[in-house]
Parts: sequence; C-alpha cells; structure tokens
Amino acid sequence: MASEQIMQYVDAHCHLHDRRIAQDVSGIVQRAADAGVTHMVTCATMEENFGATATLSRQYPAIVPCYGIHPWFLDSLSPCWQQVLGDRVAATASGVGETGLDFMDKNADKDRQIEVFAGHLSLALDLERPINIHIRKAWDAFIRLLKKTGPLKTPGLVHSFSGSADMVKLLMRYNLYISFSGSVTRPGAKKVVKALNAVPGDRVLLETDTPDIYPSVPDPDPHGLNEPKNLPTIAQIAAARAGVPVPDFVFRAYANARKIFATLIPEAIHGLRH
Ligand SMILES: [Zn+2]
Repeated sequence: MASEQIMQYVDAHCHLHDRRIAQDVSGIVQRAADAGVTHMVTCATMEENFGATATLSRQYPAIVPCYGIHPWFLDSLSPCWQQVLGDRVAATASGVGETGLDFMDKNADKDRQIEVFAGHLSLALDLERPINIHIRKAWDAFIRLLKKTGPLKTPGLVHSFSGSADMVKLLMRYNLYISFSGSVTRPGAKKVVKALNAVPGDRVLLETDTPDIYPSVPDPDPHGLNEPKNLPTIAQIAAARAGVPVPDFVFRAYANARKIFATLIPEAIHGLRH
C-alpha cells in the first residue's frame, strides 16, 4: 500500500567532495540514509578533485561518481585533461560531469567552454555513460551543440534547471531529463515552477547541489551548507508546486534517477536502505 511505502530518493547532483563539508561526509551519508536518500550522484568539477571523488565512491556504496570539468574552472585544465578524464571514466563505473556552459559572466570564454563541453559530450556518447550538465544563460549554444551530436544514447540530465518551459520539450528530444534543486523552493521562483509544470512525470529528477543552493525552508540550518538529507523537503515543496501528490512525485523522480544511472547503481540493492 502506497501509504506504507518508504519514500526513497536519489540526489541526482551534489558535490560531496567539496572541501567545506569534507570533514563531515560520514555524518552527511548517514543523515541522508536516515532521510531515505539511497544514492547521491556526486560530481567532480576539476581534475584536482577527481581523486577525492573516487575515494568517496569507494568508501560509500551510496555515492555514485561523475567526473568532469565545470565551466567555471577551465583555467584549471591540464594540457592532457581529455586523456585524464577519458581514462578515469573508462576505468570506473561513473558518469560524466559536471560539465556544461555558463555565460552568466560576460567575460567568459564562450568558445573555450563550447570546445570543452563538446569533449565531454562525445566522451559520454562514446562510452555510453550518463552526463550531468550545467547550463546557465547558454541555451542557444547548448541546442546548437545537441543538434550536432544528436540524441544521447544514454540519457543525461540538466541540473538545477533554469531554462524556460518551452525549452523542456526540446531537451527531451535529445534524451535529457530535467533536474530541480532548492531553487524550486524559492518564493519568487515563477520561471522554475512554470518549467517544472512543463516536465512530464517520466522526465523529472531531484537534486540538492550540496553544499550549495540551500532550500528555502522555515527553519534553515544556521551554518547554511546544504546536504542530501534536505532532498525530501525539496521534493515536498516541488510536488506541491507541481500539483502532484508527494508520494507520486517522489516515486517518479526516484524511478527516473534509477533509470538514468541504472548502469552505475547495482540492481541488487534496489529498494534497500543502506
Ligand atoms: Zn553542481
């Protein structure tokens, strides 16, 4: 019976390697498990934190690693970054990302971002891995790239979606899922909520982007660092804003995440909390 089912969650995008929370990962993982978060997809953001991400994923079965170079950190690239990234992803059960395009900063080197992101996209296509994508103010460039690559063989996701409701349909054609973070909990989040309502149940995902994007809740943690245990709160608010019963919304987001990351999350532990 639905009311007796334990609600389960996959945090589709977070950064548990982040130095601000590194000393507390075992507590964070435990609190996540207590909240029903069975898996946390943790995304490296530059070569420097590939090692820390790998170590965490070996230590904690609930941590699913992705490796990529965030568009903010292109200055950190080594000359052989593509080889380093490709070898790392090929050798481990992992996804690609965080990667993408961010044109918020007018001085951003757009061509370089497009070149590096294209490298990530072709890696995900070649190795048939899920890809965890960051797009801000760069939707036209993103669509142009997708037109070149065609639909992804293995589905990917656009994290902390900030695009328009119209963009949702277009992205779905390329085998992309749409992930919502604590930004959907902001009282003034009209555009995000409109997009949320345009996403069909079989394409929605949930994430925290830990340790950032602390959700708008009545009793926020005074230290202000987000963690995956907050995912049920984000889910509740998102479900209300989507006009969907919470258990249905949570179940859909969980099933979608299991589908995207099916090759990285062993089926044997499906349904079990650990
Ligand atoms: Zn992120």
